[in-house]
Amino acid sequence: MDKRNSSSILLFFKVHIRSIVLHFSLALTFLQTGYSQINKTTYSITEVTKTIYLIEPIDHDYRWVTSNIILVINDHDALVVDSGLLPSAAAGAIQEIKKLTNKPIKYLGNTHWHGDHWQGNETFAKEYPGLQIISSERGLASINRNGMIWANQFYLRFLERIYKNFETEASTGQTADGVKIETEELAKMKIALPKLKADIEEIKNLKPVSPTITFTENLTLTAGSREIQLHYLGIGNTVGDAIVYLPKEKIIIAGDLVVYPSPYESGAFSKEWLETMKKLRAFDFQVLIPGHGEVQRDYVYLDYLISLFEEILRQLDQAYRDGASNIDEARMKVTHETISVALGKHAEFEKYLKELDPTFVSKAIRTIFQRVIEGKL
Ligand SMILES: [Zn+2]
Repeated sequence: MDKRNSSSILLFFKVHIRSIVLHFSLALTFLQTGYSQINKTTYSITEVTKTIYLIEPIDHDYRWVTSNIILVINDHDALVVDSGLLPSAAAGAIQEIKKLTNKPIKYLGNTHWHGDHWQGNETFAKEYPGLQIISSERGLASINRNGMIWANQFYLRFLERIYKNFETEASTGQTADGVKIETEELAKMKIALPKLKADIEEIKNLKPVSPTITFTENLTLTAGSREIQLHYLGIGNTVGDAIVYLPKEKIIIAGDLVVYPSPYESGAFSKEWLETMKKLRAFDFQVLIPGHGEVQRDYVYLDYLISLFEEILRQLDQAYRDGASNIDEARMKVTHETISVALGKHAEFEKYLKELDPTFVSKAIRTIFQRVIEGKL
């Protein structure tokens, strides 16, 4: 064993023992928050600057995704952006926040109406009386319409169905199509099932809290020596996405306009989203914090997303000119592969293309055709 190997083993033990101690103390404190330990969301913390942190959920397979939570510590108070899917996810984040600052959270920004970004509001509001929750005007309208329907009905329905499917798959060891599930995946599924069940119980008891302050185009807050800007840039991942910009620090908090390492397509792909991304690109920033996934410290990933959207729209336009008149014909001509080949010409995009959700292009085509049918293009 060479010296490098032995020192890395030593490092492994140090880190491992530290994490065991840390987990033990967290287990004790978490019980005091009143939320179940079973489905606790654990986070990794990235120090963006001495006063700005990304609280990023550690992957939890087979459960509904929860958002990044961003902490901005000001001179006398703090701002948090997004609050997680569940009250317990918010409680887990608050535990992390309290290790980083004892200043009160004065502002909570909700970037958009998807439940993984705002359903934790109730926990923050309870923990920090006087909290002001901010969203764009369109964001609030969407929370009060779509968000409330999801919080009160759809999540429960979806999660119960998902739970039932996983339960059957775990007990039979195969998918509904009869494909054998690998032992490793089965083990993950069995660990996830009780967590998913606890998530469902939490969803049943949600007491959704809406934003209290809205803005139309933009809003500037002064918090001690810090300037905080909130902007609405147009239709994107939803109709009401807000971004946060810290001009002195040159940091963008992008919500799900940017998701790393692969964008989400939940029926929003459009020319308008592309235009909004170009407006985002015009900001002078050094750090971009996505709605999910790692901190980006340059423009490359955003450039890749812009190129990806442009290429899908360009190839679809060409397919239409070549006679593709329905969704199936378009999907024959424009595929994950045709898009990958076109973008693969840019060496700097290669690593992102490997991570691109293989269903993204197909879903984007469905959305575009849906919008054409609905007369939105
Ligand atoms: Zn999200």
